[in-house]
Amino acid sequence: MAQASPEPSEPPIETNPAPPACRFCGHPLETTFVDLGMSPLCQTHISEAQLGEMEPFYPLHARVCSRCFLVQLEEFVAPDDIFTEYAYFSSYSDSWVAHARRYCEMMRERFSLGAKHRVVEIASNDGYLLQHFKDMGIGVLGVEPAANVAAAAEKKGIPSQVVFFGEHTARELRERFGPADVLLGNNVLAHVPELNDFVAGMKVLLADDGVLTMEFPHLERLMAENQFDTIYHEHFSYFSFYTVEQVFAAHGLVLFDVEELPTHGGSLRIFGRHAEDSSKPVGPRVAALRERELAAGFAQLETYGAFEEQVKETKRGILEFLITARRAGKSVAGYGAPGKGNTLLNYCGIRTDFLDFTVDRNPYKQGKFTPGTRIPILPPEAIHEQRPDYVFILPWNLKDEIAAQCTFIREWGGQFVVPIPTIKVF
Ligand SMILES: [Zn+2]
Repeated sequence: MAQASPEPSEPPIETNPAPPACRFCGHPLETTFVDLGMSPLCQTHISEAQLGEMEPFYPLHARVCSRCFLVQLEEFVAPDDIFTEYAYFSSYSDSWVAHARRYCEMMRERFSLGAKHRVVEIASNDGYLLQHFKDMGIGVLGVEPAANVAAAAEKKGIPSQVVFFGEHTARELRERFGPADVLLGNNVLAHVPELNDFVAGMKVLLADDGVLTMEFPHLERLMAENQFDTIYHEHFSYFSFYTVEQVFAAHGLVLFDVEELPTHGGSLRIFGRHAEDSSKPVGPRVAALRERELAAGFAQLETYGAFEEQVKETKRGILEFLITARRAGKSVAGYGAPGKGNTLLNYCGIRTDFLDFTVDRNPYKQGKFTPGTRIPILPPEAIHEQRPDYVFILPWNLKDEIAAQCTFIREWGGQFVVPIPTIKVF
């Protein structure tokens, strides 16, 4: 008996949907960088009333473009859902505020900034940085999409526009306030889904002889030090210098200097200008870093393929420590509830079976629970009260600052643990 066969004209069942396109060059993204499974959005802290509800989880699958080598995540949630009420207030980190002050002093010296200049910061947060320029008598303007943090900046006297930055808003800002002599953004370039529109906006707003600076985590450090937990949904792009140079060049901007910074586990600070501006020659650090990355294989696809196994081994090491500690009857508390902590907790499957609670200085997070893993977030004083054997530092980039604030755990023989690059007890 012959079975009915499908009509020849029927379309084949779609088993392999088209791959997403590179957000910079549009090439299809067919190569995995690392697949961290399903994860909730890292800033969606859960309130007590929400504990009985479901939470949306999205794929956390980083891919690398085989043409421009931009490592990236797909956009699952519109930025206005993520950023309109942002829980991160930059001023809660002492070392970050100090970093910002040093930057302002350096910029004033190097580019002879004064009262006739205007500094515009994109993603100006609560004014943690612009306050220093303001104190120097330099004109400032903040651009910040989250209304609640922009309101905190206004209270400090930092004029702030609540908008998303892009080519269209850049034109409006230029019309209303004039061009930017200094245009800066720290940890924002990696967080924009419309990368080309964003960089095109910088081209529009920058004064003819202006300087732009951007800071973002360096992909080279992420790979060298297993910083897989810096991959989360709100962090769309992961840049090598090789790739970021191409992005700016495509919009008529030249990178004339670059610095390597220790912040966020290793960041780059790029200095850009208009391609037409010959007043700032390209410095030697630009070619040196480009050459170093090329020699390390950042323009070859194979270099990116090895990362995933390194991540799995890092997870095994973290779980091995936690299992051993808990079997020995030790208590472990977390420190911090940062975005990166949530990728680590969800990917490794760490819940209250391993961490009794975590603490955070940000009052906005206190009394809530970590997304997905639902670990209670308490004020830092809880460490004092509960006397855990180990304090597991989730924002490992701030480990020195946190260890200095919590030296009192030595009174009961407590020790610190950092999970990245590999688990370390100290
Ligand atoms: Zn690409």
